[in-house]
Amino acid sequence: MERATVIVAIDGPSGTGKSSTSKAVAAQLGLSYLDTGAQYRAITWWMVTNGIDIDDPSAIAAVAGKPEIISGTDPSAPTITVDGTDVAAAIRTQDVTSKVSAVSAVPEVRARITELQRSIAADAGNGIVVEGRDIGTTVLPDADLKIFLTASPEARAARRSGELKNADVQATREALLKRDAADSSRKTSPLAKADDAVEVDTSDLTLQQVIECVVTLVEEKRAGK
Ligand code: C5P
Repeated sequence: MERATVIVAIDGPSGTGKSSTSKAVAAQLGLSYLDTGAQYRAITWWMVTNGIDIDDPSAIAAVAGKPEIISGTDPSAPTITVDGTDVAAAIRTQDVTSKVSAVSAVPEVRARITELQRSIAADAGNGIVVEGRDIGTTVLPDADLKIFLTASPEARAARRSGELKNADVQATREALLKRDAADSSRKTSPLAKADDAVEVDTSDLTLQQVIECVVTLVEEKRAGK
């Protein structure tokens, strides 16, 4: 039986398990996967590489349309390139992480990346899981299912430190809270829970439990269609 396209928006702050959950749910359900944080990191990497002053929003706005950012949406092997260069590793450096909130707050950057995201979602045949900060509120307000993942600052810092191997938990916690505060307080399309999103607190759940919870919610939506 032919299944209807399903669009799933997964938002939330860093360290809540968004990426691991989104990838696994997409793989399990045969859907595409889009990591929108990677797109903001990619445009930030391009700005840094091209010597653009990160503290000058008008300088960033003037060149926001220049880089060509392409995302591969296979959940088992997501890719990201900028002007043909594979930047999958380069966008995860501390330098890019510390600058991404400033770049992603620039309205011209958001307009550009939002347009890209909408066209990728529209082209995803079977459906797609899109993870980010403003997917349910701004990018795909008509998504079939919206999830907002949360977790205590302690749980988030511990997870991120684990991912970064041997990183100082306290320093990770501070950097993470600073980035979330910037993302939540920006004027254009801040990190926020959509009114119709299902909130899942992952603090005391294993990754497997979160995946199962989201898969069940998607299956319920599909059955109700
Ligand atoms: O998800 P990740 O931590 O890789 O996101 C990096 C940054 O990209 C966030 O801190 C935020 O500044 C920006 N972002 C955004 N909107 C999204 C996804 C990410 O502004 N939808």
